[in-house]
Amino acid sequence: MTPPELKDEVRKAWTDEELRASVVAYRDMQRRLDAGERRFMKSVYLDLSRRFERTPSSFELRMQNISAVLAAMGRRWIEGLKPAKHVGAGVALRLEALINELDGNPAPPTASERLEVLELAAKPVKARKETPPPEGAAQPTRSTTTSLSFARSKDVKVWVLRRAAGRCECCAEPAPFQTVQGLPFLEVHHLRTLADGGSDRVSNAVALCPNCHRRLHFGQDAEACKAQMYASIPGLIRE
Ligand SMILES: [Zn+2]
Ligand SMILES: [Zn+2]
Repeated sequence: MTPPELKDEVRKAWTDEELRASVVAYRDMQRRLDAGERRFMKSVYLDLSRRFERTPSSFELRMQNISAVLAAMGRRWIEGLKPAKHVGAGVALRLEALINELDGNPAPPTASERLEVLELAAKPVKARKETPPPEGAAQPTRSTTTSLSFARSKDVKVWVLRRAAGRCECCAEPAPFQTVQGLPFLEVHHLRTLADGGSDRVSNAVALCPNCHRRLHFGQDAEACKAQMYASIPGLIRE
């Protein structure tokens, strides 16, 4: 038997209004959780379900889609809402566009494509049926994009790189390579990202090897890595 929420999903596609209300509610829940409120999420789904005639559980699933998109964007997501394993490419794209729009960021969505590419690449190919490589483009077209970025202090970067002294502050290994000038290559990362409201201070920044940097943004164990750094690097303050 089809569970009621699945029937609900099949019956009607999600309108922009419903997706927008879901993203707005998600961000509001994030704020309330940060403020220390607990045990209110069920009532949020119930309110949404009354407003749009869907089951509360279909809204909860939608929230897990939003977690997946935020995670793919390298953003903070609500811990109790585990990122969904599969988010339809169309919905991911619409959700990312909505998140950017609510942030006032004119950037085109890119994370949902990365999500889709990784999902497609992991799909098993039918045995023996080799697919020919795609043609690609000999002369890729160019496009201009506008996006909002935060001003970051050069002094903060220098200070954090000095603190790291050539070693990744996550894995503690020496920088994996030297630049052409013979300098250790590390990247400065904000533990609470600026997009999530983090500060540009040395107490919120670490120097990382490129592997750990990507891992902190997109990895399953990002939270554990972070916790370990907060515990071991003096001067870091959780934001
Ligand atoms: Zn590292
Ligand atoms: Zn970063």
